[in-house]
Amino acid sequence: MVHEGLFVGPASSVYKFAGSILHCARDPWFEDVKDRAAGKNWVRIKYNELALNMVDANSPMYFPDDMINAGLEFITERFAEGDPVLVHCNMGLSRSPSIAFLWMFEHGFLDDEFRYALPQFKDLYPDYCPGNGIWSYLKRRCNDGKAPVEFEYECQGIGGNSGCGASATEQVKVFGPVVGQTEWAEQIVHVCKTHKQELNAIKRKILEK
Ligand SMILES: [Zn+2]
Repeated sequence: MVHEGLFVGPASSVYKFAGSILHCARDPWFEDVKDRAAGKNWVRIKYNELALNMVDANSPMYFPDDMINAGLEFITERFAEGDPVLVHCNMGLSRSPSIAFLWMFEHGFLDDEFRYALPQFKDLYPDYCPGNGIWSYLKRRCNDGKAPVEFEYECQGIGGNSGCGASATEQVKVFGPVVGQTEWAEQIVHVCKTHKQELNAIKRKILEK
């Protein structure tokens, strides 16, 4: 819980949650809805369930304001109905905590300066590790025209759940299991120098074969 009634987590947290649910992941929640309006980046699944067409893309252009706002308004609306709200994505590292952060930031539950609000949120949710796209989006939306804010990434490792927590200075593309899902997918992760070297060694071995 990052705020009274506001929960953040990975895909596995969905099945045991009693309350309203905001899915911040395209696959499978948004994809699975058959009768979606064309061109609309969110869909109301039930009165207490909304899915956003959100992928952890590398560019902020994949995070349009109207989609993000639909998610934020859903949280506000469900709170007004007295429901607890779970905001989740696949891993609970980037997309869903970013939306929870944004809701808290814009409702005055964090410092009103982005650069101070961010470490406050990270104290509440230590796993927070925004991908480049959503991070650029947040910087533009929350820090418009102010002093630049850097984010210290932690190593996510090169396989599911293999992050070592060291400072991540590199970025690599891996093909690995998406936590909470059965399929494998290509993803960009932040890693430490050691993990990047490890990945390069694996790639070299594959090429030698
Ligand atoms: Zn590492």
